[in-house]
Amino acid sequence: MIKIFSSEDRFQVARVKDMLDANHIPCFIKNEFSIGGVGELSPFDAWPEVWLSDEEWQSKALRLIDELQSGSGDGAEWRCPSCGEHNDATFEICWQCQQPRSAT
Ligand SMILES: [Zn+2]
Repeated sequence: MIKIFSSEDRFQVARVKDMLDANHIPCFIKNEFSIGGVGELSPFDAWPEVWLSDEEWQSKALRLIDELQSGSGDGAEWRCPSCGEHNDATFEICWQCQQPRSAT
């Protein structure tokens, strides 16, 4: 297992997780529920993290995350023909209904 991403913004972490899921990259979140918790953890220690189950996905995951962060994917966001949901350009399937992007 390997840590691939961490942010104090857990919505950003969730976005990365969703994006990896959409690309069929096995991953999971650690520290998801420690945000807002009380106790001895410093804020940094409590940051949620995205981990890959298998580091063979690392290079692809990093590239996808980089595209997600920079917004320099292969174009603008796209609209799902099935449910009308707007999807990030890096998503290959609709996050809402799993309709493949290629169906457009
Ligand atoms: Zn959809």
